[in-house]
Amino acid sequence: MPEWPQYDDEEAKALLEVLNSGKWGSTSGDTVATFEREFAAYQQAGHAVCLANGTLAIAVALRAAGVGIGDEVIVPPYTFIATASAALFVGAVPVFADVDPDTHLLDPAAAEAAITERTKAIVVVHLAGRPADLDAFTALGERRGLTIVEDAAQAHGAAYKGRPVGAIGDLGTFSFQSSKNITAGEGGVVLTESAELAGAVYSLVNVGRVPGGGWYQHETVGYNLRLTEFQAAILRVQLRRHPELQALRERNARLLTDLLAPVEGIRLAPEDPAITAHGRHLFMLRVPGHRDAVLKSLTAAGIDKASPGYVPLHRNTAVLREATTITTRLNQPYPQPTCPNADKVSQDTIWLPQPYLLGTEDQTQTLATTITNAIPR
Ligand SMILES: *Cc1c(COP(=O)(O)O)cnc(C)c1O
Repeated sequence: MPEWPQYDDEEAKALLEVLNSGKWGSTSGDTVATFEREFAAYQQAGHAVCLANGTLAIAVALRAAGVGIGDEVIVPPYTFIATASAALFVGAVPVFADVDPDTHLLDPAAAEAAITERTKAIVVVHLAGRPADLDAFTALGERRGLTIVEDAAQAHGAAYKGRPVGAIGDLGTFSFQSSKNITAGEGGVVLTESAELAGAVYSLVNVGRVPGGGWYQHETVGYNLRLTEFQAAILRVQLRRHPELQALRERNARLLTDLLAPVEGIRLAPEDPAITAHGRHLFMLRVPGHRDAVLKSLTAAGIDKASPGYVPLHRNTAVLREATTITTRLNQPYPQPTCPNADKVSQDTIWLPQPYLLGTEDQTQTLATTITNAIPR
């Protein structure tokens, strides 16, 4: 199956250019700034600020929106730990609302039911590259005065009703970590339409400096989370490769869907006309009662990167311990999470990671046949 990342001399040339320029950091070079403009245009966002990774991108987005100590942030439990730990990093409390069992995505009704007087933000995750119900979440945010953060770490190039994700909510975050569909080994970016929020993100990433301000002019307290020029140089090339690779993933995902959807015992996410482009980071399927058998067959066929996926975060004792430490100190209740759908999907879901969508038609057929034959009839 195809290797990831995919690269050639273009990346090498871009890296050498930065090396030989002697401008290795974004405080002297302009490669990060150029990539920010290019990525903002790609996702149709007003502003982009790059930073070290997708985990801190969520924390910074929350902080920029004014989320802080004791505030509640509603998150789905079926996601990477960063979605919840980001809230903890800013002293806020992640509150879990259940997912839709058909899509694995945060359920807007469950999120609304989890709102309390302490709720400040909702982090919706475009898991697997499938955009969440952004109409429902942006309306909910407006109605209840909540910040909507899109965790788009898996959703480069995804679009909802024709508009790329990331700046449809108040802020959106992406990751460029090794496994992601655009990568520089590590890295992240925050998108927003708001100049004010972009400025706040810039300051958090740049030790409290302000755009155009002095070197020792620290107007707020911020971290140093800057991306290097080397990373941005690779990202510029990877961004240029993305449309073609996304189209290939889309083709193979459609073929897999056509082959697997009719198979009894396999459940795929339903088609949704609102999803006008799928990021295709993971191909997820549910195989109730047959997960071990399918994973064993895939491994035996040399397809050993298929995965049983997440353990849901509302079962993660580290996250719960941190959250209750904060609420106990503040004499606040911690809303006890009950997320039966997340429990259910985490027991019967299989992920095929994105490199498996970069193969030939034959390889994709083999993938489907191996899965299909592992399910007893
Ligand atoms: C990868 C990922 C992150 C974190 O990004 P890093 O760059 O690895 O820190 C956050 N959320 C989701 C859903 C992810 O898949």
